[in-house]
Amino acid sequence: MEKSAAEKSLILIHYSEIGLKKGNRGYFEKKLASNIKKALKDVEIGELKRDYGRFLLYLNQDSPVELIVDRLKKVMGIAHFSLAYPGSANIDELKEQIFERIKTQDFSTFCVRTRRSDKQFPMTSPEINRIVGTRIHEELHKPVDLKNAELTCHIEIYNKQLFFYFDRQPGKRGLPVGASGRVVSLLSAGIDSPVSSYLIMKRGARVIFVHFHSFPMTNKASYHNAIKLAENLTQYQYQTLVYLMPLIPIQEKIILNAPMKLRLILYRRMMLRLAQMVARKERAGALVTGESLGQVASQTLENIVATSESVSMPIFRPLIGMDKEEIIELARKIDTFDVSTEPFDDCCSYMVPENPETKAKLREVRHAEEQLGGWKQILDEIFQQAEVVYLQFP
Ligand code: ATP
Ligand code: MG
Repeated sequence: MEKSAAEKSLILIHYSEIGLKKGNRGYFEKKLASNIKKALKDVEIGELKRDYGRFLLYLNQDSPVELIVDRLKKVMGIAHFSLAYPGSANIDELKEQIFERIKTQDFSTFCVRTRRSDKQFPMTSPEINRIVGTRIHEELHKPVDLKNAELTCHIEIYNKQLFFYFDRQPGKRGLPVGASGRVVSLLSAGIDSPVSSYLIMKRGARVIFVHFHSFPMTNKASYHNAIKLAENLTQYQYQTLVYLMPLIPIQEKIILNAPMKLRLILYRRMMLRLAQMVARKERAGALVTGESLGQVASQTLENIVATSESVSMPIFRPLIGMDKEEIIELARKIDTFDVSTEPFDDCCSYMVPENPETKAKLREVRHAEEQLGGWKQILDEIFQQAEVVYLQFP
């Protein structure tokens, strides 16, 4: 987008209609408007107006267009947006306005596309395309290409308003964060859970993070990296709570009292229970993990069943059907991959045998847990000791 074009311009924001039922449209729009404002909290902007299924974000002379574009690209729920200019309803004036804007731009082929939802407008879309296109072609001698134009001039006419724009920026799509309620995500410092948290945010959930570490038995790398990952993901939800909890007290109990091959499953069940305690406190409705079916020993169907049973809240697993390659591709795209691949000591591998149980029987797991004794109190103590970090963006 042009940098100097802020003067007298605005950003025309379209949001996806997917998931929009008649009744909750207003709610969705309010959330989106509030998120757009939060994303631009520290930026000079004008008014944000809701207008017939779009948002008009007015810019001031000093508005930093590039920064605004970067921020809007990360607002969940936006389908696409463009730096746009108000145009005249008089076609002779309009074609000159467009010509003045287009003549300074660098392109070899072009086309004009009009979307006219205001049927009162005296001309049809093809007529407008032809008149504006002819004006550009005659003066600049550039050919029209309807399929693969280097530059597309969009004209949008609705409710007696007319805007034109050249550059369409793709949005994140999905639903505005917060529109679907709150969840608690179990965030390791690995590759998968940041991606699963991102995907659930994209469906409109506000995410509270929980990270478990085995400090002081292991180093604190996972702790710091989990915070870095949560910081990255805060770009999409503006405010974030991260709960950091030591798993060691309960791990020691398990190591001393349970069969070695069940350690990992028991750790997992305790992690889910602690996450559920956080969810209850924060009034969240579900838990989220980065599990993918069959990816590792702890993620066989049997083990997923044996761990899920420990909590009553639904557990969402956005990555359940994805391959590792697909997950890595997304991790690179959202820029969590590099932090996720820094070395760290994983609390789940603390004192875990090389060949943990892959087909855990619920009966055996329950029995082992009964033998532990006093674990509820330990979980309460861990929960009391949780460190809570508050992050915000911008
Ligand atoms: P990830 O890349 O997310 O660490 P993984 O492939 O290493 O996943 P596991 O170690 O089996 O898989 O972990 C499965 C899920 O359990 C993780 O995706 C995450 O949701 C949760 N989890 C694992 N370790 C932790 C931790 N230390 N703190 C919080 N959650 C964790
Ligand atoms: Mg892991």
